[in-house]
Amino acid sequence: MTPQNLLHLLLPGPVLAPFVYGALLYGVRYLVMALALYGLARRGWGRAVDAAYPAGDDRAAHLRRELGHAVGTVLVFGLVNAVLFGTGLVRHTQLYFRIDSAPAGWFALSVVLALVLHDALFYALHRLMHTRALYRRTHLTHHRSVRPTAFAAYSFHPWEALAEALLVVAILFVLPMHPLALLAFQTVSTLINVYGHCGREFYPPDWHRHPIGRWINTSTLHAHHHATGRDNYGLYFTWWDRWFGSADPARR
Ligand SMILES: [Zn+2]
Ligand SMILES: [Zn+2]
Repeated sequence: MTPQNLLHLLLPGPVLAPFVYGALLYGVRYLVMALALYGLARRGWGRAVDAAYPAGDDRAAHLRRELGHAVGTVLVFGLVNAVLFGTGLVRHTQLYFRIDSAPAGWFALSVVLALVLHDALFYALHRLMHTRALYRRTHLTHHRSVRPTAFAAYSFHPWEALAEALLVVAILFVLPMHPLALLAFQTVSTLINVYGHCGREFYPPDWHRHPIGRWINTSTLHAHHHATGRDNYGLYFTWWDRWFGSADPARR
């Protein structure tokens, strides 16, 4: 029996393989990054984002809740991956598989554009999920971590996990990307997401006054969002918050 035959025996059908591989990729990447940032936070690296951090509640129960929801998120991400790659839907996206079929430099530019586009879509979704109609049914699960740990990065209600996954699918329909560029974009995205919840700050204290720093979202800003349930809805950048008046007044 060849290795390919064995693989087909273990993962029959066109949908199961992208589900398993997708869930594994999302799950392992999240776990490695969350464990690393959680470990650094426990060792006191960086500055505390909040004098009261970490939460006084039972740490083990807190971590169990965040990790439990993260398992659901990884399964939802795996399902979306299965539908995308297992049903032929991927052929209707802008994904391209020959790296030399796009102009030189597009690979790197597509990663940057994906981050800018994702930030805009995330801002809109995040504002939407904070409306009275949707908050309790979706986003409250994530906000149960008033003082999150790095593991809160995937602590979502399944509906929110699905919406987050569909944002990336939407990007693939409009932005030509090589699968490795998609991998790079999502790896950067996961790292920033995990850092945003880790409870520690690695940027300088006056970063929000720096001409470039003021446009970069930080762990401090997202910690404020979790502590208060308002302001700082952005993901990577602060321009949507600044332009739509939802930036934390203390750090404008
Ligand atoms: Zn929120
Ligand atoms: Zn959060």
